Amino acid sequence: MTDNKYQAIETKLVHAGEPRIDGAVRLPIFQSAMYEIDPDDARGSRYIRYFNTPNQVALADKLAALEGGEAAVVTGSGMAAISATLLTLLRAGDHLLSLDSLYGGSHELITGLLPSLDISHTMFDGNQPETWPQLLRPNTKAVYVETITNPLLRVPDHEAVIAFCRQHGLIAVIDNTFASPINFRPPEFGYDLSLHSMTKYLNGHSDVVAGAVIGQAEPVEKIRRTLLSLGGALDPHAAFLVNRGVNTLALRVRQHNESSLKVAKFLEGHPKIARVSHPGLKSHPDHARATQLLDGLSGMIAFEIDGGADAAEEFFSRLKIPLIAPSLGGPETVVTRPTTTSHAGLAPEEREALGITDGLIRCSIGLEDADELIADFDQALSA
Ligand code: PLP
Repeated sequence: MTDNKYQAIETKLVHAGEPRIDGAVRLPIFQSAMYEIDPDDARGSRYIRYFNTPNQVALADKLAALEGGEAAVVTGSGMAAISATLLTLLRAGDHLLSLDSLYGGSHELITGLLPSLDISHTMFDGNQPETWPQLLRPNTKAVYVETITNPLLRVPDHEAVIAFCRQHGLIAVIDNTFASPINFRPPEFGYDLSLHSMTKYLNGHSDVVAGAVIGQAEPVEKIRRTLLSLGGALDPHAAFLVNRGVNTLALRVRQHNESSLKVAKFLEGHPKIARVSHPGLKSHPDHARATQLLDGLSGMIAFEIDGGADAAEEFFSRLKIPLIAPSLGGPETVVTRPTTTSHAGLAPEEREALGITDGLIRCSIGLEDADELIADFDQALSA
């Protein structure tokens, strides 16, 4: 449950949810699968797959406090959080309105697994609210979006999403991974459920796979119950590591925000760059909305080099600092082509319709010196 003792997010990152057991400043790792049953203990039976052991609960309580949610549950991956949430909210015969540009794994869940369970969906353009009412069906239950889309970094009209959901009695669900609680806090904004791949910014050290669901107590408890059947629990050691990473989230994310904008501005001015997408650039179609709604614009950049996929591969081979790897939000800068990684599961026509070209490069700017990164990008482009 939410720890309301602290006001500022920086203070919550350090102190919220911390039980400070036996005077220990850091919560030790409780590497125990099960706990003795105490008939007087309201917590009932405790077991790692019940999501109610000390490291899991401390981390969940911190997350709820960070985003202003009533409760949270931490999971073994971001996809565990996303799949358990959608499988809790939607039943056979239900319909989901889903943003047209999503992380590839979420797209596959919604277009592959859910239809096999008779759960249908319609994709919508997050920037055209006037088109949404005609997509509604009598069986529409929920709307699913991302704060900043993967990989093209569009920022949907979140105010319109909340108004639309309120008007039509729909549950508003958002994947807040790219923004992190430093840049956006969906429960405070009006979203019912906020989902995270904690693998990215929340953990922030590229050494754990983890997820979270944050929101009102009742739906979070229902999702936890679904997870009891699906499994997907977060191990206490991994929960400990994520909790440690979260302490420095504000410092890290603000550095990612600043460095990525600096690199994006450099790329925008480079003659070999065909297009750059970063919501902090004035040329970005959602720049005004993004800067108004979000406290920062993440460490992500999408760009294309003249010459498409071949030019991108050539550029990768010349880079000295960034690693060519999937995922994001860690201390090291990574580059990938979404066609070969995060969006490889989409059909070529689907990618084309979304603007995910073969040459598109997705870059997660890390915590290295931004000027040194720019110099490296410059030499790799000039070669
Ligand atoms: N959501 C977003 C926006 C992602 O980028 C990812 C992974 O890349 C996920 C969810 C899935 O997270 P995980 O790999 O922790 O299951």
